[in-house]
Amino acid sequence: MSALDRILGRDQPSGQTLRIDPVECEGIGQCAVAASRIIGLDRWGYPIVPKGELASSDVGQAGRAVKACPRAALWLEDV
Ligand code: SF4
Repeated sequence: MSALDRILGRDQPSGQTLRIDPVECEGIGQCAVAASRIIGLDRWGYPIVPKGELASSDVGQAGRAVKACPRAALWLEDV
């Protein structure tokens, strides 16, 4: 989180969370490439997504991950 994010209020809760369907996910990894700041991969190549409510500054990355997923296994959900 940068000072600019704090000044602009992007560190505030977004009211959204990133959800994953582990059945649909095939561990292809495009989500982690599209959103490397918030999504990592485990040792088998499956994504580790942030738990709980996203900061406002992370919603853009999360949206890019959702669009990048060829299996539609990720989505944003209101909390
Ligand atoms: S891009 Fe989709 S299918 Fe690939 S690892 Fe991410 S969630 Fe799973």
